[in-house]
Amino acid sequence: MQPAPTGNSILDCITSSERDLLTEVLDRSDVISFASGTLLQKDNTPIEFSFFPIHGVVALEWVFDDGLNVSTLGVGRHGAVNAEPEIDLHSATARVTGQLPGSMWRIPALAWQKLLTENSALRMMLARYMNFMLTRSRQALACYMKHDVESRLCCWLLDLYDWQAGMPLTITHQGLARLLGVRRTTVTLMARSLQDAGIISYRRGRIEITDLYALQQASCVCHKSWRDWPAQWSSSPLAAVGE
Ligand SMILES: [Zn+2]
Repeated sequence: MQPAPTGNSILDCITSSERDLLTEVLDRSDVISFASGTLLQKDNTPIEFSFFPIHGVVALEWVFDDGLNVSTLGVGRHGAVNAEPEIDLHSATARVTGQLPGSMWRIPALAWQKLLTENSALRMMLARYMNFMLTRSRQALACYMKHDVESRLCCWLLDLYDWQAGMPLTITHQGLARLLGVRRTTVTLMARSLQDAGIISYRRGRIEITDLYALQQASCVCHKSWRDWPAQWSSSPLAAVGE
């Protein structure tokens, strides 16, 4: 019998022969909801949980020595956080917060690592995922250096739209500004222009895509390149510069 889907692409990639082991781990885990801005993991503290989003998006933030924190990577239902093999559980290198509200599997990190240790196929799959993340991080940097803000905004809206399975996006202009590493006023100007062109519609922190084709045309090539990526999972890079 086909196991019931968990809603997270990585967990759902686990084949039925390994599924019993996963079920044991899931029995000791829980599904939690998170809001935009919810602190899920502090940096430089022990890692207790691995996160597997079902809905919404979480952000991995880099915290500078002066306290400024900047979103650097986003992870949705196709990815995971603190799930790589051989991760150092003593000290998290990233601060993890909710970006778009949603829900996720919260699996005890020790139990997840034990599962990886006991299963080479699963360990290899997570190693491929981490390689994918590394490649995507490099492309994110290239995108930030070469593509204009408006086409990056469109790219981001497409990524978020994919992650939310076409549902309206619950995100403010300030939230988008954080993703892009620009001022809120810049996002407001660009969003107004997209709304005037009939591409999006927004009010009170809720954005609907009203012309998907036009949004794809206005996006930089990065969204398309990730859609063509052969991996079964994806995550979206965030700008690596503060406001
Ligand atoms: Zn780009």
